[in-house]
Amino acid sequence: MWDFNYEKQKDIVSLLEEKGFAMNKKFGQNFLLPRSIRERIVSQMGDIEGRSVFEIGPGLGSITSIMLEKGAVLKAFEIDHGFASILREEAFGDEKNFSLIEGDALKTLKEEEAVPDLIVGNLPYNVGSVIIADIIERGFLPERMVFTLQKEVVERMGARSGGKEYSSFSLLSQLDYDILQAFTIPRSAFYPEPNVDSAVVVMRKKSLCTIKKGEREKFFTLLRTLFSQRRKTIKNNLSRLFADKTQIADVLEKAGIDEKERAENLSLEDVVRLMRSY
Ligand code: SAM
Repeated sequence: MWDFNYEKQKDIVSLLEEKGFAMNKKFGQNFLLPRSIRERIVSQMGDIEGRSVFEIGPGLGSITSIMLEKGAVLKAFEIDHGFASILREEAFGDEKNFSLIEGDALKTLKEEEAVPDLIVGNLPYNVGSVIIADIIERGFLPERMVFTLQKEVVERMGARSGGKEYSSFSLLSQLDYDILQAFTIPRSAFYPEPNVDSAVVVMRKKSLCTIKKGEREKFFTLLRTLFSQRRKTIKNNLSRLFADKTQIADVLEKAGIDEKERAENLSLEDVVRLMRSY
């Protein structure tokens, strides 16, 4: 196993210098230094020995190495070609349980057909929520996912209806998963320090599906419609789906939802009922 000290900022800088690679700001590259925090992230995944794991954004492999030590069968998705060459040639090239897919995970993940047991990632802040939304919309649903994200994004994922953090992303996150904010990580734990705080979110697949497979497209279309203009009433936003105003009134009545209500006050159960009323 590659014996690199991921805790030392100096060693990371020297490694990159020696290879002639620069860090790339646009990929949200902030390395998580303390091993204790990286271990804590991995422990949120449960027993990973022999389990198939996708890691998004492994960087130089600081979380990867712990998962390999624990016997995970790991496929990593990294966009930075410099980091990828270090992972492949220096770090884990000889590990039989390690494979690497180079490129933008927003594209490469979509090419994967077999759903892994787990997905983990210390995700770049700018693409984290897009990747999670893609995974869920596609119905590509591992039993557990553990992501390190901007704290506000994690709060939005677990938010309940009526609160200011509640959005279509909360509903999307909660459709198939129970959301738990496991712990927060101070910015000082990263190199370079980001200008936001982070949190680790654990997404555990619900034992009973909220909706049927055949209803997913309809659910996501309704979700987009309901939140298309946040300040408008549900009735107003629904006019994008139904040309006929009386039909909107009928649908809302059937679902037992007041036409003056706003989407931010609808629970997941309300949205499902609304979807099934037309
Ligand atoms: N896992 C490492 C750690 O915890 O120290 C690095 C985490 S760093 C916040 C994010 C990583 O995601 C970087 O390695 C970056 O190059 C990679 N990345 C950014 N955008 C990506 C994308 N669209 N697809 C795949 N990897 C991406």
